[in-house]
Amino acid sequence: MSDTIRSALPIAIIGAGPIGLAAAAHLVNRGYAITLFEAGTSIAANLHSYRHVQLFSPWQYNIDPIAAELLQQETGWKWPESTALPTAGAVIDQYLLPLSALRSIAPFLRVNAKVLAVARQGFDKVKTQGRQGAPFVLRVQMSEAVEEFLASAVIDASGTWSQPSPMGAHGLPALGELENANAISYGMPDVTGRDRTKYAGKKVLVVGAGHSAIGSLLALASLAEQGSHTRVVWAVRGHDISRAFGGGDADALPARGALGMRLHKFIADRRVEVHIGFKTHAITQNNSGLTVIAADASLPHITDVDHIIVATGSRPDHSLSRELRTQHDPWLESTLQLAPLIDPNEHSCGSVRAHGHRELAHPEPGFYAIGAKSYGRAPNFLMATGYEQARSVVAAIAGDIVAADNLQLTLPQTGVCAGGPLADDGSGAGGCCAPIVSAPAKTAGSCCSPGAQPEQISAGCADRTKANSQVSSPRSCCG
Ligand SMILES: Cc1cc2nc3c(=O)[nH]c(=O)nc-3n(C[C@H](O)[C@H](O)[C@H](O)COP(=O)(O)OP(=O)(O)OC[C@H]3O[C@@H](n4cnc5c(N)ncnc54)[C@H](O)[C@@H]3O)c2cc1C
Repeated sequence: MSDTIRSALPIAIIGAGPIGLAAAAHLVNRGYAITLFEAGTSIAANLHSYRHVQLFSPWQYNIDPIAAELLQQETGWKWPESTALPTAGAVIDQYLLPLSALRSIAPFLRVNAKVLAVARQGFDKVKTQGRQGAPFVLRVQMSEAVEEFLASAVIDASGTWSQPSPMGAHGLPALGELENANAISYGMPDVTGRDRTKYAGKKVLVVGAGHSAIGSLLALASLAEQGSHTRVVWAVRGHDISRAFGGGDADALPARGALGMRLHKFIADRRVEVHIGFKTHAITQNNSGLTVIAADASLPHITDVDHIIVATGSRPDHSLSRELRTQHDPWLESTLQLAPLIDPNEHSCGSVRAHGHRELAHPEPGFYAIGAKSYGRAPNFLMATGYEQARSVVAAIAGDIVAADNLQLTLPQTGVCAGGPLADDGSGAGGCCAPIVSAPAKTAGSCCSPGAQPEQISAGCADRTKANSQVSSPRSCCG
C-alpha cells in the first residue's frame, strides 16, 4: 500500500456490498481516503436478505484479489476452500465482514447512511463552465438527520436488489398488486427458516423462472414434504420451463444441476402445480384468498392463493444521480456503453467480455456506477466481473490508465457462466442468477399448464405422451 494518504477530499462509495467493499479495498490500497456509505444497519444488506441461499459460484470467484491481500496482510486471513460453494451468509461472515472491519476501511464506513442524491457542489446539471473542478456533494439520510458530504469522485455500487421488478408482465405492477402488497414478497424469502410461519400450511404462488424462483419453489416443496400441507404453485411467463431444470447429472456445477433435478422431480410428482405462458394481469381478493388472473383470458385463474413470492428480477434506482450527467441504455437501464456487451437477449454472463473504466464512464467525469447497478435490469452480473470493474475504475481514477486498460477477468468456460440468454419473464433464467442450462434432465414425469397446448409443453418435461394426454383435463395434470 502507498504510504502517502492523499490529502484531497475522500472518494465516496455508495453501498457496502461485495463490489462497494472491493472498490474500498482498491482505493485504500492505492492510498486514497474514502467514505463508504451503506444504507443498511450492517454491510451487505442485500446479500443478508438472502443469506440462507447457496450461491452457484465457488469461493474462488467470490473474493476480490486485492481485498484478499489486504485481509492477509492485516489479519492473517486465509482463503476459504476455493472450490466450495458458500451461502450468501458465509460470504458475509467469512469474507465481507472481516474486510469491512479492517483498520484501513472500518473507520470510513458509515452504516445507516442512505445516499439520497449526488450532485456537483454549486452546479445544477445544466451548468457547464467550471463544473469539472467542483467537488461532488452527497446528500445522505443518516439515522438522525439528513447530512451532506463532499467527495472528489463517486463510485455508485448500490446494486439493484432493493428495487424488485413487479409481477405485471408489462413491467408495471399488475392491477391489484400494490393493494395486496401485504400478501406479496419479493426476492428470496427464507421460506424454511425465519419466514417459515408465513408459508407453512399455505397455498403459495411463485412467479418467475430464474435462480431465485427455483430456490423458493424448492424451499416450499421441502416445507410441503415436512407435512405442513403447504401447496406450491408456479407461474411462468414463458412457454419453455426446461431451462429451469438445468443440466442434471451433466451440469458443470453439480450442486446446481442437483437443484434442477429436484425441481423436475417435484413437478413430476405433481407436488408443484405449474402454469406456463402465464402473464399476470390482475390480482383480486375475496374471503378465500387471492385470485391471480392471466392476461390471456383463456387461461384459468389461479385461485385461493394465500401468499405470492415474486421473483421477476430487479431494476436500478437512478434517481440518486439525477443531477449528474449520466447516460443509460434505454431498455436495460445499464450504463450506456456497457449495454451491447451484456444485453441478456444475446448474452449470458459467460459471453460478457471483460470491461472496465471506459465502458463504465459517464459524461460526468469522476462518477462511475459499478457492480450490479452498472448492469441495470440485466440479470447476468457476476461478482467476479464486478471486482474487475472496481479494479479498472479505481486505476482510472488514480490516472493509471495502463492498469485501467489492462483487463484481467478470467472466468471458467463452463460452470459459473453456462446460462443462455434471457428468460421470457426477464428474471434471468439464462443469466447468472439462473440454474445452468444445458440438456434437459431426462427423468420421467409430466408438467403442464392448465390450458396449455401439446406443443407448448416443455421439452424438459420428458414424458410428453403423458403430458399430452392430460392437457384436456388440465386440473388433473398439474393441480
Ligand atoms: C439470489 C441470488 C444469488 C446470486 N448468486 C450469485 C453467485 O453465485 N455468484 C455471483 O457472482 N453472483 C451472484 N448473484 C449476483 C450477486 O448478488 C451480485 O453479484 C452481488 O450481490 C452484487 O453486488 P453489488 O455490490 O453490486 O450489489 P449489492 O450486493 O446489491 O450491494 C449493494 C449495497 O448497496 C447498499 N445500498 C443500496 N442503496 C443504497 C443507497 N442509496 N445508499 C447507501 N447504500 C445503498 C445496499 O444496502 C447493499 O448493501 C446472486 C444474486 C442473487 C439475487
